[in-house]
Amino acid sequence: MSQPPVLGLHGVTVALPPGADRRLAVDDVSLSLSAGETLCLVGESGSGKSVTAQAALGMLPRTLSLTGGTLTLEGRPLPAQRDPAWEALRGRRIAMVFQDATASLDPVQRVGRQLEEVLEVHGVADREARRDRVMALLEAVKLPDPARVWRAYPHQLSGGQCQRIVIAGALLLDPAVLIADEPTTALDVTTQAEILRLIAELQAARGTAVLFITHDIGIVAEIAHRVAVMCEGHVVESGTRDAVLTRPQHAYTRRLLAAAPRPAETQAVAVPAPAVLEAVDVGRTYRVPSGLFGSRPVPALDGVSLRL
Ligand code: ADP
Ligand code: MG
Repeated sequence: MSQPPVLGLHGVTVALPPGADRRLAVDDVSLSLSAGETLCLVGESGSGKSVTAQAALGMLPRTLSLTGGTLTLEGRPLPAQRDPAWEALRGRRIAMVFQDATASLDPVQRVGRQLEEVLEVHGVADREARRDRVMALLEAVKLPDPARVWRAYPHQLSGGQCQRIVIAGALLLDPAVLIADEPTTALDVTTQAEILRLIAELQAARGTAVLFITHDIGIVAEIAHRVAVMCEGHVVESGTRDAVLTRPQHAYTRRLLAAAPRPAETQAVAVPAPAVLEAVDVGRTYRVPSGLFGSRPVPALDGVSLRL
């Protein structure tokens, strides 16, 4: 027999409160996740993806109840929902990243301090060790100038940079499982692509098992090893990425694939003249403090031209 899955869900069932649009948020869901693997949980809004993640993190809201199923982490049963025993596991063996990075960060504390606090809470007593570990992670998530980022407040960073910090925080204690719930949905497409690449690289380097939740088939095509398709609380289909994307068995999966946007066909359009707004070769460089008394240039705009 091979190793037990890093994360195993068997027959997980979560009831909705009375009067909801359906009886069960999650209905008999079974998933397994191995080390170094990315399992994409895909389905339209309301299909039960986030509730599945909450159950796997012991974070179900009180209005929802786990009415059936077993959950295991590294072969051992997970604590009951909201049990204090989760404090030793969450962040340490199983970590999470959510859609809204800024909501995961404290707006009034420097980001480096916030990350060091995670280590402190989990018993890393040595100050120097905490500082070194945080700087190493800020570098691992490819933030420019990690020393400056350490001192920054979240509002001084972009959405993509904040999400990199949240990812650094999630990986600080080398968890076996990372659950990412729509982590790139709030980001522009270029930043999204960079974050997806980053997660894949970190996962490959660390052997983390990743449960990646998305409604976006394009992301599934890019990063999944395996896919589970959810519809109205059920997993209706699962398999390898190529099997599910190229030979979908379930009608719902076919509908989801058919609805996925494709690159638009481009057509030449005539440009009306004259211009009402024109910018030619616009540049703007800020000077930011650097070193004890010095400053250094940050080119924010460089050679931007546009015509409307
Ligand atoms: P998804 O993440 O796939 O968009 P969710 O897992 O958030 O969907 O939701 C699944 C179902 O559970 C939906 O019908 C949603 O309305 C319901 N639901 C989610 N969270 C709560 C909650 N805290 N209280 C009541 N119903 C909820
Ligand atoms: Mg969701």
